[in-house]
Amino acid sequence: MLGTLTRYLRFMGYDTMSANSLSRGNTREDTLLLEIAQRDHRTLLTRDRALARRGDGAAVFIRSEHIMAQIRQLVEMGLIQPAIRMSRCSLCNTRLRPATQREVRQTIYAPRAHAGRDFFWCPECRKLYWMGSHGKNLEKRLEAIYKP
Ligand SMILES: [Zn+2]
Repeated sequence: MLGTLTRYLRFMGYDTMSANSLSRGNTREDTLLLEIAQRDHRTLLTRDRALARRGDGAAVFIRSEHIMAQIRQLVEMGLIQPAIRMSRCSLCNTRLRPATQREVRQTIYAPRAHAGRDFFWCPECRKLYWMGSHGKNLEKRLEAIYKP
């Protein structure tokens, strides 16, 4: 349910697990999520108000369905700083490392103009990241959060 927020949080460098594989409204799985959050000192983000209430400080009810409002809420709660860091894979949450020249060369979707760009690599997905148009657009949208 919070798949976009999950990806955005990873773009911002936050260690983010997703409960997408778990079905909604299953009390046992909800309990498991809360246990994981408490055990690993994570904050459970949920659109399920009842679950958030049960979380007793370890869970946050996400009020809006809209991604920018969701991010604004987390910023206002002091939980995140809205800036792109390119330090985690948005797909699998693994820490990115600088890509080697060979990895950049071997990636067919890499931009042709390499000069002045920093490339990062997910060793799990073997996916190349860089501050391309997607990252730039996202950064602009995040900056807009600070503007009235
Ligand atoms: Zn990955």
